[in-house]
Amino acid sequence: MAETMSEEDPTVPIVCTECGTETRVPLPDVEDALSRHNDGKHDGEEIAEVDPVLKDRLADLVAADLGLLEEPSEN
Ligand SMILES: [Zn+2]
Repeated sequence: MAETMSEEDPTVPIVCTECGTETRVPLPDVEDALSRHNDGKHDGEEIAEVDPVLKDRLADLVAADLGLLEEPSEN
């Protein structure tokens, strides 16, 4: 759990409680992998999801990636 990140694309764990599987996919493929799994295995139900622990971090990553965090938020 304390692995250091390499310079490769960050991978995101996708967990499916119903299948009991955990798959790591590159960040850009997450949406695709999720919909493919849920479409193929669960009739489109959103059962597989990004590891909840990472979800918050992921939101930050994506936001940072999109430049949404460039404004300093001083309150
Ligand atoms: Zn599944």
